[in-house]
Amino acid sequence: MLKVDNLQTYYGNIQALKGISFEINEGEIITVIGANGAGKTTTLMSISGIVPPRSGQIIFRDESLMGIEPDSIVSKGIIQVPEGRRIFPYLTVQENLDMGAFLRKDPEGIREDFEYIYSMFPILAERKNQQGGTLSGGEQQMLAISRAIMARPKLLLLDEPSLGLAPIIVQKIFEIIGKFNKESGTTILLVEQNANMALKVADRGYVMETGTIAMADTCENLMKSDEVRRAYLGI
Ligand code: ATP
Repeated sequence: MLKVDNLQTYYGNIQALKGISFEINEGEIITVIGANGAGKTTTLMSISGIVPPRSGQIIFRDESLMGIEPDSIVSKGIIQVPEGRRIFPYLTVQENLDMGAFLRKDPEGIREDFEYIYSMFPILAERKNQQGGTLSGGEQQMLAISRAIMARPKLLLLDEPSLGLAPIIVQKIFEIIGKFNKESGTTILLVEQNANMALKVADRGYVMETGTIAMADTCENLMKSDEVRRAYLGI
């Protein structure tokens, strides 16, 4: 579905991605784990066109994304949930979800997806007329993911959904990510520092270190690797 080849991305003179390559197949959950500053967010920003890469290639369903504007990338079905959630704080929960469906023209499908989301997250249904900014951190993360789901993504990019959340909420968010992938078949690229949770929910994983991909394997094998256990799982 997505092929990234020798991608190099800079912030001014700082090279954040030093020629990374990886692939995502339809229906997979792929995780990218790594320490602070490894280049995980930059990888997502490069795919979504927000930080345009300087060289290399990104192919999405046989089409290059290089030089394509972020709004066109969104309309191809690549939807990013940014780190730190960034919901619309002064819009209600329902209005935030409406914004996710902004580009859609299938009212029946939109209605079904509202129901799906409210059944998955009953707390959002209870709070649907409440302003987004008044929700707890965990509820805002649920809303941010739900808003992205309302766009019917083909590829969902999740940037550290666990950041700053209590373990019990993290557990719930990861359950939903797995459930949504299974029920809808949506392909997911999940960037995480919480390697323990990410490797449990994903099919395959990549380990990033200072702008490069240091390891690539199935999550099962990564969890068994001494290096991953020592550096990322704290075992
Ligand atoms: P984190 O988990 O902290 O978000 P990360 O793995 O996502 O880390 P990136 O945010 O992609 O890492 O950062 C990769 C490198 O690019 C780091 O060296 C970082 O300092 C640098 N960088 C990121 N954003 C910018 C920016 N806006 N301007 C300059 N340098 C940046």
